Amino acid sequence: MRKELIAGNWKMNKTCQQTRQYFEEMLPGIDCEGRDVVICPTYLSLKDAVEATAKTNVKIGAQNMHYEESGAFTGEVSAEMLKEAGVQFVIIGHSERRTYYAETNESVNKKVKKALLSELTPIVCVGENLDQRQKGETFDFVREQIEKSLEGINDERLVVAYEPIWAIGTGVTATSEQAEEVCEFIRGVLGEKCKENSEKIRILYGGSVNASNIKELMSCKDIDGVLVGGASLKSDFVKIVNYE
Ligand code: PEP
Repeated sequence: MRKELIAGNWKMNKTCQQTRQYFEEMLPGIDCEGRDVVICPTYLSLKDAVEATAKTNVKIGAQNMHYEESGAFTGEVSAEMLKEAGVQFVIIGHSERRTYYAETNESVNKKVKKALLSELTPIVCVGENLDQRQKGETFDFVREQIEKSLEGINDERLVVAYEPIWAIGTGVTATSEQAEEVCEFIRGVLGEKCKENSEKIRILYGGSVNASNIKELMSCKDIDGVLVGGASLKSDFVKIVNYE
């Protein structure tokens, strides 16, 4: 009943020209019937990406946004600006933003509310670091992130991405058991918060997903899709999207 969602996060990669080239090369190979496929390039490449995918089922997302509509926020981009550019999704609270740009659960909460009001689909990232996992703090930490980041929010359009920090960009993927264990836990926490919507909210796994591990991850009951970093930059992404 939940539509699968495969999203690519390009981070700070690809110029506008490289963006156009990427879509020219990969779009013919994508078969996303029945699946949502979302690519999140840099702000600067959004318009090129929207144009390149206009006649396809591939959707475009941003990697961040500000929660205010406009004003003195140097270097920021608003939800309205993203909407006007044709963007449909937005990643919020990625661990790199939390670590390098001091994003907090509170700012994530404001952004998620604003995204939903603006009819952008938020992909809200949560996940523990290695130290927290080794100390057995994963569940408490993820619970706190969800409760605070999603405070006052009960909306079936939400997407939550479980991204253990120790698996991001490291080549170390969580085993499907580890990933499912936390995704199932997240659905339980969403059940307390969002009642019946928790069965409709999509939960993604992210962390070194590639063409070899996608099938096993997607076979897990509470994993409705994946958020892919490094492998989304390469032709591998076509194999991930078309996995069978
Ligand atoms: C990410 O940055 O969201 C991510 C999952 O990266 P990677 O796939 O490279 O681990």
